[in-house]
Amino acid sequence: MNMVRLDKKKFGDFILELSVEHAVYAPGNTGGKTDFIPVSSEDEINLKTLVTDLSPKGIFFPHSEVLYEYDTEGIRVPEKEAGKPIAVWGMRGCDSRSLLMLNKVFGSAIQMPDNKNFQDPYWKEKYDSSVIFGSACNMPQSTCFCNWFGDGPHSREGMDVFVVDAGDHYLMEPVSDKGSNILGKLTCLTDSLEGDAEAALKLASEAESTMVPPMDVNGLGELLNDLYDEPVWEDISAKCINCGACTFSCPTCHCYDIQDEGKGSSGKRIRIWDSCMFPIFTMEASGHNPRALSSQRVRQRVMHKYSYFLEKYGDFLCTGCGRCITVCPVNLDIREVLKTINVYNRQGITNG
Ligand code: SF4
Ligand code: SF4
Repeated sequence: MNMVRLDKKKFGDFILELSVEHAVYAPGNTGGKTDFIPVSSEDEINLKTLVTDLSPKGIFFPHSEVLYEYDTEGIRVPEKEAGKPIAVWGMRGCDSRSLLMLNKVFGSAIQMPDNKNFQDPYWKEKYDSSVIFGSACNMPQSTCFCNWFGDGPHSREGMDVFVVDAGDHYLMEPVSDKGSNILGKLTCLTDSLEGDAEAALKLASEAESTMVPPMDVNGLGELLNDLYDEPVWEDISAKCINCGACTFSCPTCHCYDIQDEGKGSSGKRIRIWDSCMFPIFTMEASGHNPRALSSQRVRQRVMHKYSYFLEKYGDFLCTGCGRCITVCPVNLDIREVLKTINVYNRQGITNG
């Protein structure tokens, strides 16, 4: 299937048509923040936002999710709502790529001690049936650094349909078979015109030209491993107040806790987001805390993203979306952390 057009005057029809068979999510305003919210009409969508305050991970991995309910009769997995597959409109390339990373954790088969393969059914049910309408960024923000990781403002990774805002219309290009199928079904679309593909390429090159040249991240994992015991972590973490805002807004952070909420002989087992930045995250029953210091927790977050995940899955656990930079109340900029580490290493080599 080739590129198609959607006249912006028909955007409302497009959302209505998509909603017939899908639970549609799109950027919207909620509680003074922008987030991906369930929508049923054009009016609920915030088309101006580039990177939403909160990431779309919550669509597939909710902040709080009931895994099962229990009572004296046994346990029951709650019925799933609506039952429609999810369609997401307006997901930027950094966010669609983050879902590929989370899918490595929740969606990959893990061999258990009994030799059975385990995949997270709560994630898989939602993610595998979803269709992602990704959105090109024509004007990246100053906090965007997706280009550090080989990506760019017109990246298509993790999308089913790639959408370019081309003024009074959108250009849509299928990226996956799922994307082709859905574009083939939607009646409000028209064929692309001569020059549309070139117009999209021009927007891509203009957007790329506005981005600050990236830091070279080759060898970053090994570098971090070498610096694990160095005092540089105390300097880096000095102003962190361990609020956890960076981890909650991050599209790739996925630590969680399991809590039971019970009353009498019945209750619920709930999965709820947690943060490695919280002091009690690693507190053991004995009272011992292997990451009692803020510097140890900041180091863990950085090492997980740029060393451990790379070693295990062959990719950094960061898309360069910049949310952690925007949200941090003490302006701890992850780009500056990585640059500090680079400089520290060079000085260490020089001094050695
Ligand atoms: S948002 Fe900033 S202050 Fe809060 S935990 Fe993250 S780095 Fe620390
Ligand atoms: S670490 Fe920061 S820049 Fe990287 S994906 Fe998470 S929020 Fe985005």
